[in-house]
Amino acid sequence: MYQHYARPGQDADDEEPGHAVAILSVQGSSPGVHIVDVNTDYQRLWGGSREDWLGAAPIIVQQEAANRQIIDQLHDALNPLLNDAKSFFEGIGGLEVNRRHDGSRRYVEWRITAMGGRHNNSITLVLTQRNVTEQMEKEAQLERLATTDMLTGLVNRSQFDAVLKSEVSRQHRYARPLSLIMLDLDFFKQINDSHGHDVGDQVLVALAGLLKRNLRKADCCARWGGEEFMLLAPETSLEQAVRLAEKIRGAIKHTDFPIQGSVTASFGVVEVHSQESVKSVMKRVDNALYLAKEKGRDRVSTGGLLTPAKQA
Ligand code: GH3
Ligand code: MG
Ligand code: MG
Repeated sequence: MYQHYARPGQDADDEEPGHAVAILSVQGSSPGVHIVDVNTDYQRLWGGSREDWLGAAPIIVQQEAANRQIIDQLHDALNPLLNDAKSFFEGIGGLEVNRRHDGSRRYVEWRITAMGGRHNNSITLVLTQRNVTEQMEKEAQLERLATTDMLTGLVNRSQFDAVLKSEVSRQHRYARPLSLIMLDLDFFKQINDSHGHDVGDQVLVALAGLLKRNLRKADCCARWGGEEFMLLAPETSLEQAVRLAEKIRGAIKHTDFPIQGSVTASFGVVEVHSQESVKSVMKRVDNALYLAKEKGRDRVSTGGLLTPAKQA
């Protein structure tokens, strides 16, 4: 029998409990786990008074089905110890993610260990639960900082490297089309020189917004450095990628950036060949971009493999 209280003791607006502890007992002959004692943090976490909890089944995680599964798993793990006093139970544990009423997440880390061995056919266990939300959020924040370009909010270069590697190896396995577009703003140094670095930054931020609006969810868009950007488009052939690049080129040209006159960009586009290395793809896209610059900028080049679509 699982005793679940309608409303856990804590929510976002209250102070979060620290270490919830429940002492549990498992009787060799009877199924189930029951509580022998709980501390105040356990009562604060799940509601109810100490008296309510004594003899009740514990809440290890909030979701009932998951709680039941964990208790089954616990019985399986304890079986050797119930049959042989010399056997050892090394404990079980996990991390539960719950949604609070305000939609934010709460992470609760839990662990069950044995307090000594088997005595008179019963085993005493300690359940500890700790709210690790703050720690998890800090880690997620650090991860975001490490993978995001601070100015534009796009993926940064090192994260793009990782995504490219993984998409290229997927392409090797499944032989699906995968294309890469590298774009570089034309004469950006002049924009900085005439309007100042801050305005240059605003152009980069506006460009990042334009790129995001023009891409699909599966595409990865990164700031590669300075005024260079990379777009990785899975399930996209060379012809489709050229069309995408042309669409973006036109959109950039016709967007009102915070400067007088239009901003233009040059594009290199390649499709990853079967079994091609990341290094080779990068070299080809860089070369294609170089050709676009050489041919006069504000254009799309595939490095000579395909005639670029006619410019607007
Ligand atoms: P090209 O058409 O050949 O690409 O000419 P360009 O002037 O765009 O190229 P160049 O590589 O000579 O200059 C790039 C400029 O980008 C120089 C650098 O000061 C500027 N830049 C790099 N990073 C940033 C940034 O974060 N903010 C701003 N405002 N400018 C940047
Ligand atoms: Mg440039
Ligand atoms: Mg450049």
